[in-house]
Amino acid sequence: MRTIVWFRGKDLRVGDHEPLARAAAEGEVIPLFVLEPRFFGPGRARRAPHRMQFLLESLAGLQEGLSRRGSGLVLLEGPSTSALPRVAAQWKVDRVWAHRASEPGGRARDDEVARALEVPLGLFEGETLAPPGSIRTRAGRPFSVFTAFKRAFLKKAFVGWARTAPESLPPLPAGLGLWTGGVPDYSDIGLELNSRVVEGGEQAGRKRLRSFFAGSARLYENLRHRVDVGVTSHLSADLKFGTVSAREVWDRSWYHLRDTPSGTAFRDQLLWREFGYHTLWDRPEVLERPFRNDFLDFPWEFDEKLWTAWTEGRTGFPLVDASALQLLREGWVSNRARMVSASFLTKQLLIDYRRGEAHYMKYLADGDPAQNNLGWQWSAGCGCDAQPWFRVFNPVLQGDRFDPSGGYVRRWLPRLDRLPNRYIHRPWAAPARILEAAGVRLGQDYPYPVVDHSQARDRFLNGTSPNKKRSSIR
Ligand SMILES: Cc1cc2nc3c(=O)[nH]c(=O)nc-3n(C[C@H](O)[C@H](O)[C@H](O)COP(=O)(O)OP(=O)(O)OC[C@H]3O[C@@H](n4cnc5c(N)ncnc54)[C@H](O)[C@@H]3O)c2cc1C
Repeated sequence: MRTIVWFRGKDLRVGDHEPLARAAAEGEVIPLFVLEPRFFGPGRARRAPHRMQFLLESLAGLQEGLSRRGSGLVLLEGPSTSALPRVAAQWKVDRVWAHRASEPGGRARDDEVARALEVPLGLFEGETLAPPGSIRTRAGRPFSVFTAFKRAFLKKAFVGWARTAPESLPPLPAGLGLWTGGVPDYSDIGLELNSRVVEGGEQAGRKRLRSFFAGSARLYENLRHRVDVGVTSHLSADLKFGTVSAREVWDRSWYHLRDTPSGTAFRDQLLWREFGYHTLWDRPEVLERPFRNDFLDFPWEFDEKLWTAWTEGRTGFPLVDASALQLLREGWVSNRARMVSASFLTKQLLIDYRRGEAHYMKYLADGDPAQNNLGWQWSAGCGCDAQPWFRVFNPVLQGDRFDPSGGYVRRWLPRLDRLPNRYIHRPWAAPARILEAAGVRLGQDYPYPVVDHSQARDRFLNGTSPNKKRSSIR
């Protein structure tokens, strides 16, 4: 039995990889990755520089993990829809195995590949904890409310144990001219290494997993919203690219945290991720339009200056600006800062959430259509189980609460470093002598606020918001 195990950017690991482990136990294996032109073509990588960097490092890690076990990663120029059927015939394989994709694009690609192959395409579960589409209401419908989804998940789903990585793998079949040449380098695809971006690869991911559970995980319940201390796992890019499996993270959380408040709070976040994938599986249209129909003709506005100020971290609201700079430079932002920033763009600047969503997709190392869309629609108030549309985060009070001594703002906006805590989230309110002592000239070193929070909030709630149709909105 000869199997192509097709790795597709969401399962870049050797551990807990069912298709790989099973194929290896049953015969010859050709581990394959297709360099899709839509990601690896000229100029493409710059559209998602941090994610591409993480991907390249993860591919190199996979290559190393497979070689160390006696196999190797075969690289093939795509697109997979034509290249895969060609090599499957040429290499005389009996089957192609992969993990199931949950995104509409991946599902369409898999259907096309399955039609073009002369051998079966076997798809395994592995991206999520439970197969998308398996957690339904009694009436067989997808859930729209997270808590109900979570309750049903905890009652019905059997997550199982993560498999350990095989100690050895069968060697690549000889005589097929398989190309296991190096994974492209940053410069091959027009990227420069950004050392601030989280390191990709299974080994780095497992190290993060271990150090999280050995360290800050116990503080998760109390401190996860704090933007200055960073107690969360930073596993989002690993989970997105599958360098660590969701099942393993789930498993480890039970082992280390059991049913402590931190364990429950952490697994709740994994279930939000799950909810995002299950929602996208059943409602692929959310990638194009708001989940809530009453937001379909929402009168978004677009002011180029405000948009640029938001993307470049020049709104005059330090928490929002710090998160914009962290996104551009590090490709990661905490959940709290993402929520505040997204709420600000959509509710205070009245800019369409889809613009923010696309901007985040460009720069996030963990950028994932299902999760990013869920986060943006939640923040804008138009999504599945979104935060109530009338709840408008106040970025100043959020700063006081989740960055009480301004450590986060001081890190990303060093020009404000010498401001006392009291003014770090509202520099415009500081008396002139305090600004002078801190060396801050408003309008020069740091901008005045681009909007007045209360006025912008009222404009959203009473003006152009779906408030016009308030009776239909709850
Ligand atoms: C506007 C907006 C956009 C977002 N875009 C993305 C995205 O593109 N990719 C992405 O993975 N997450 C996204 N999130 C969710 C969340 O912000 C990140 O998953 C989290 O900040 C990653 O940090 P962590 O790994 O330390 O999380 P932890 O707190 O350690 O959580 C563990 C894991 O649970 C999952 N998770 C945590 N919070 C959420 C959440 N609110 N929704 C869904 N899954 C969650 C992630 O996989 C995360 O790695 C977005 C949230 C918002 C509000």
